[in-house]
Amino acid sequence: MLQPLANLDATVLRRVRGVIFDVDDTITRRGRVEAVAYEALWQLADAGLILIAVTGRPLGWTDVLAHLWPVQLAVGENGAGWTWLESGRVREGYFQNTEDQQSASEALARVRMRVEREMPHVEVSGDHRARRCDLAFDVAEHARLSADDVEALRRIITNEGLRCSISSVHAHAVPGEWNKAVGVVRAARSALSLDLESERDRWLFIGDSANDEPAFDFFPLNVGVANVRSQLARMASHPTWVTEADRGQGFAEMATRLLETRA
Ligand SMILES: [Mg+2]
Repeated sequence: MLQPLANLDATVLRRVRGVIFDVDDTITRRGRVEAVAYEALWQLADAGLILIAVTGRPLGWTDVLAHLWPVQLAVGENGAGWTWLESGRVREGYFQNTEDQQSASEALARVRMRVEREMPHVEVSGDHRARRCDLAFDVAEHARLSADDVEALRRIITNEGLRCSISSVHAHAVPGEWNKAVGVVRAARSALSLDLESERDRWLFIGDSANDEPAFDFFPLNVGVANVRSQLARMASHPTWVTEADRGQGFAEMATRLLETRA
């Protein structure tokens, strides 16, 4: 049962140190960051909250997000790696060591060949060239794959021994143990020396779809933007709270609620 965000206790929100947020369909609408959501990011940052973006998007993109957005850390490819700035210089970290990355790229090549052969109408994601650790297929960004196709794609990926994670736009072949929760925890420890595990009730996570499930599970303060309702059937675990507004407007609603508890 999703609870309205308004029911979230103000005393709990007052203790929050930072916000961990998904990007696609959490702060974007039709692929672009909504103005109210971007404004909300700055308001949260100006109030002294630590901001961490965590997305299924490529690590090539997190390099840009860490530079341009008011975030301390940007985690990409669902936890496979991360980017942050140290004295203005870009730094990067990875969930896997170099050897594991090598065998992972071989496994990804096998998946890609099988999909090309068995499902020739399925395309890799348009952001593929900026990826470093995973492989994503377009299911609903430009393509409109049927539920049966998404299921067939999931079977190929898991038959090749990889995990499959599905966002509102992509199906990811994941050649490692990371997900958005363990990825963010490891990234925050290595990049920011923050131990999210020991204070997980002081971090608010907000997202919208199935690749956010591990983070909905891990962070007790977890919020779905209203459009998460359309994804619930695909998800085993659901967010506890939900905003009234969808996408970036829902994110802004969360920010307003969080900031009013600190006024
Ligand atoms: Mg999303």
